Amino acid sequence: MSVELGKGMLLAMHLGRLKDSGTLHNAQVSVGKLNNVREAIAIARECRTILGANGVTLEYPVIRHANNLESALTYEGTSEVHQLVIGQALTGESAFR
Ligand SMILES: Cc1cc2nc3c(=O)[nH]c(=O)nc-3n(C[C@H](O)[C@H](O)[C@H](O)COP(=O)(O)OP(=O)(O)OC[C@H]3O[C@@H](n4cnc5c(N)ncnc54)[C@H](O)[C@@H]3O)c2cc1C
Repeated sequence: MSVELGKGMLLAMHLGRLKDSGTLHNAQVSVGKLNNVREAIAIARECRTILGANGVTLEYPVIRHANNLESALTYEGTSEVHQLVIGQALTGESAFR
């Protein structure tokens, strides 16, 4: 969890610096959003299972946080569309329909 959190923070910092320098490409934004939301959900899920049955109750904040991340998975751009953006940048071919 700590390793993925650290990697996600480094990626966000790198993309922020590219934005400040005016060289950020939209496909790089997709890489950051796709990776960081996906890993945040994986971390929240692992936190939930560590708590066992308590992990699915509202007595602990983990499941609420996990549900909030499920919203972020949509409103920060869906994984499918981020992958299409990244695929287009990698191959030069658009697979959008
Ligand atoms: C909590 C929340 C807050 C939001 N806040 C805002 C906001 O402030 N401002 C705003 O503008 N919007 C906001 N949204 C809307 C959000 O941006 C959209 O829900 C999101 O872009 C997905 O669009 P959609 O729901 O129309 O799904 P759709 O575009 O209908 O997608 C449905 C499914 O099809 C997939 N899909 C879509 N197109 C393709 C394609 N070409 N190829 C393959 N798969 C595809 C998607 O990945 C998804 O799995 C918010 C959404 C939520 C949940």
